Amino acid sequence: MSPITIALSKGRIFEETLPLLKAAGIVPRDDPETSRKLIIATSRPGVRLIIVRASDTPTYVQYGAADIGIAGKDVLLEHGGDGLYQPLDLGIAACRLMVAVPQGFDYAQAVKQGARLRVATKYVQTAREHFAAKGVHVDLIKLYGSMELAPLVGLADAIVDLVSSGNTLKANNLRAVEQIVPISARLIVNVAALKLKRAAIQPLIDAFAAATGKPK
Ligand code: ATP
Ligand code: MG
Repeated sequence: MSPITIALSKGRIFEETLPLLKAAGIVPRDDPETSRKLIIATSRPGVRLIIVRASDTPTYVQYGAADIGIAGKDVLLEHGGDGLYQPLDLGIAACRLMVAVPQGFDYAQAVKQGARLRVATKYVQTAREHFAAKGVHVDLIKLYGSMELAPLVGLADAIVDLVSSGNTLKANNLRAVEQIVPISARLIVNVAALKLKRAAIQPLIDAFAAATGKPK
């Protein structure tokens, strides 16, 4: 069978994918948290993992450098999903994409008055669509991380960011005021690879589906 390359990001995606891989009979030979290797062999000779930045996962799969990947819906919405088959919501790395503002900021009132809001976010495309659909005028400011800081130092009125416990917001005197979309990680598959390597890929999809409790 042709070899299969699976793209994963370090951190919570990798951690939460481990049990799914195990259910498919795949155990990584190295731990990406301690190893500096970017290509990791597995217990299955025909299956290897590559370790990529979370927001790069769809790109590797889209171009066929990886056959399969696991990416958050946040990343997929922002990427657009070109060339990707998305057969399965794995239900892992669950959180919510939300609008958040400083405690003292009256978001509802600002929206009602038709104020022009400055919004800082890593998720510019998704934020643009969200506010356009609501008819809220926004100036979007692209950031690459630590969005919570932006309203505290006058860079923005609001942020669009992922929220799970809400502790980071709370620690920075921010509050979530609107949910944009619930987020979880999805299995993504290169469309051409699925056709050419179906014999190897389909059993993996089926094993992941079974492990997440989703029958075919
Ligand atoms: P980095 O943190 O290195 O800047 P990143 O934020 O892209 O990179 P992670 O923090 O590992 O990477 O997040 C990877 C994915 O996990 C996100 O795309 C999202 O789908 C999910 N995720 C992010 N934050 C949370 C969270 N607080 N709770 C649950 N899932 C999350
Ligand atoms: Mg992060």
